[in-house]
Amino acid sequence: MNNAVFTFPLPANEPVKSYLKGSPERVALEAELERQRNTVLDIPLIIGGKEIRTGNIGKVVCPHDHNHVLATYHKAGEKEVKMAIDAAMEAHKIWSETPWRVRCSIILRAAELLATKYRAVLNAATMLGQSKNIYQAEIDSACEAIDFMRYNVSYASTIYTRQPKSNNTQINSIEYRPLEGFVLAVSPFNFTAIASNLNLSPVLMGNTTLWKTSTTSILSNYYLMKLYEEAGLPAGVVNFLCGPGSVIGNVALASPDFAGVHFTGSTKTFNHLWKQIGENLGSYKSYPRIVGETGGKDFIFVHPSAAAQEVAVAAFCGAFEFQGQKCSAASRMYVPKTLWPDVLQRMQAMAAEVKIGDVCDPTNFINAVIDETSFDNIVSYIEYACTAEDARIVLGGQYDKSVGYFVHPTVIETTNPKFKSMQEEIFGPVLTVYPYDDEELDATVELCDTTSPYALTGSVLGRDRLAVQVVADRLKNAAGNFYINDKPTGAVVAHQPFGGGRASGTNDKAGGEQNLLRWISPRSVKESLVPATDYLACYPYLQELK
Ligand code: NAD
Repeated sequence: MNNAVFTFPLPANEPVKSYLKGSPERVALEAELERQRNTVLDIPLIIGGKEIRTGNIGKVVCPHDHNHVLATYHKAGEKEVKMAIDAAMEAHKIWSETPWRVRCSIILRAAELLATKYRAVLNAATMLGQSKNIYQAEIDSACEAIDFMRYNVSYASTIYTRQPKSNNTQINSIEYRPLEGFVLAVSPFNFTAIASNLNLSPVLMGNTTLWKTSTTSILSNYYLMKLYEEAGLPAGVVNFLCGPGSVIGNVALASPDFAGVHFTGSTKTFNHLWKQIGENLGSYKSYPRIVGETGGKDFIFVHPSAAAQEVAVAAFCGAFEFQGQKCSAASRMYVPKTLWPDVLQRMQAMAAEVKIGDVCDPTNFINAVIDETSFDNIVSYIEYACTAEDARIVLGGQYDKSVGYFVHPTVIETTNPKFKSMQEEIFGPVLTVYPYDDEELDATVELCDTTSPYALTGSVLGRDRLAVQVVADRLKNAAGNFYINDKPTGAVVAHQPFGGGRASGTNDKAGGEQNLLRWISPRSVKESLVPATDYLACYPYLQELK
């Protein structure tokens, strides 16, 4: 028995590599892109460590070149979901009893493999399968995924050392037990790091998962699974399932062993899952943990004292990086009328400079949106704005799905602060701007707070720091991640733990200690060193009975 008391200090964040032409990382990535482009994988389900092929096949394509098939994948049916539940429960017996430092060592090994051998693999898969450019892939599938792993290990070691008071007559402790059942991890398409963390955060704390992957990020998710296996994660701890959400969700949520859902995706899907859990409540062993990070209608609020160039850069990068498909992407902006023409001109100049196209050409800043459904949805908002009387397109507005799902960075200007695209999440490169009368600042802050049901991210820009603080205070509940003089995107693990309130989720802060606490069920244990021998001694006021 190893009797060392382990602590894992806070790590440093994984450095973002430059990918300059000729750099070793660029050479390795280009070779890997070439390999993956010229391969058609056959991706199985992985249940209890075994590859399962159902023959019910789907295709993985490049969003920027939708005729290019990267892989086929096998869809799970009811039978495979039940098999995955059995495998997760079997693995739970061993994994929940595995010393926590061993669990940590496997996850730290995974981080190391991702930082080295798997870096190019995961980046290339995220680029090709989810249409991210080099930089967007590097900060997601490499750096953020690694940071989640390493920081969570450190946070877990802090949690385990936190113990209650003891004294000469009693020893007290808290045993941080995993949940009594499996966790359903449901991942979105847009971040490989999030998909990884939705599994590894419960797994680190001793749980096992059923992983419902997103149909449009299967390639990178499959390589993550291979990475976990190589790092030594035992069979059945994570069970990799592709296929329709409704089938996987229905079976998993009907199981008495369902102990929690770790979800990131749209508010609509999360609400549906929550309702289903409520309907099945009587059949579960324990109250399930429901953790979900959901949609957003993220804002930039510009104070009249702001500098036009700073606003233009925050708006351009905040709204259009990764085609506006970050949950944190700026999608509505409130800007003083006196500042707006200057800001717009600067944004138009930036748009004229950037290129749109395939991820393999590193000079393309904008790539494709994820799939046809998403493309059509985004286009419907652009077309709506084109015909609306209270809005006009002042930047972009072009789109084309003949080769890939390309939508140009688009700005809608509206005179109506409640315009449809000021309220609804679009999840594409579309920013709606409401220029306000400078003297209407107060009323406009109120509009910003009340126009959308979401509260994920937001930012305020201005040089008058005291005035900016007033706005920040007024918008206290409008965002779970709030930025001052910055774009509302780009949260970094350990710097800005991420999550929102209102309709944006349960705000359990991925990449923070709070999230890990949701995956344990503490048992308080008291050991008495002086067991009582006289029952009346406990009740001094009853001495007269003697
Ligand atoms: P989505 O809701 O369409 O899908 C999310 C996942 O849920 C997918 O794996 C999908 O297959 C699955 N799913 C759908 N129906 C299901 C069901 N009945 N049972 C079980 N699983 C089911 O979301 P998406 O398009 O993948 O991602 C985009 C959304 O995610 C946006 O709304 C975005 O704001 C949100 N998002 C939020 C955060 C955050 O931290 N708040 C981060 C990333 C993405």
